[in-house]
Amino acid sequence: MAGWEDVTLTSADMRRWMEAFATAIASNRDYLTELDSAIGDADHGINMDRGFQAVREKIQDAPDDIGALLRTVGMTLISKVGGASGPLYGTFFLDMAGPTAGQAEIPARTWVEALGSGVDGVIRRGKAERGDKTMVDLWLPVLDSLRAGVANGQDFTKTMTAATQVAETAMQETIPMVARKGRASYLGERSAGHQDPGATSSYLLVKAAAETFT
Ligand code: ADP
Ligand code: MG
Repeated sequence: MAGWEDVTLTSADMRRWMEAFATAIASNRDYLTELDSAIGDADHGINMDRGFQAVREKIQDAPDDIGALLRTVGMTLISKVGGASGPLYGTFFLDMAGPTAGQAEIPARTWVEALGSGVDGVIRRGKAERGDKTMVDLWLPVLDSLRAGVANGQDFTKTMTAATQVAETAMQETIPMVARKGRASYLGERSAGHQDPGATSSYLLVKAAAETFT
């Protein structure tokens, strides 16, 4: 049992997280694109895979500074990925770089703080609210669950496992929602009945963190 205070994450952990996510995206490329074909323009898997293959290369000899590493991830996504997800995921990682700047290792709770900054960035940029059927519908409950784990001094592994379950449920809960942001919103009521592609890729990001860090 390791409480949140006992766990430290290094830049090598962050790199492994990004590599695990790149692998998950590559395996789910067609699935993500299929989800996007139902309510978007069938490119989410292609976009994310292009971006994270580029990220994988860029971080091969990234510096030990976690903030610099995350900034590289964000910049790479912004330059390589078009559509909504490039700038949004790009902002997410750029803003995660704030609380981690200049640090080669961080307490695990700082990673949660950084995720919070990243989600704030996505909301600032995309203006999505809870219930709009976007990745934000996944991140708000995931953050709540992680923050509660930190505040209550819960076991680290248990919190990460619980957050992954919260993420999976939140991803599924986007199915009945009617999209009010992004391309899917053009469909109006017809967007209901389909799982949001961006919430699905974000679920894979949470799952990759739990698998890598625990
Ligand atoms: P595009 O919609 O430009 O083709 P992608 O298909 O790569 O881009 O990404 C679509 C995903 O982006 C959606 O499933 C949704 O989760 C997310 N998204 C779209 N608009 C917003 C927004 N304003 N705020 C947050 N997420 C958004
Ligand atoms: Mg799309």
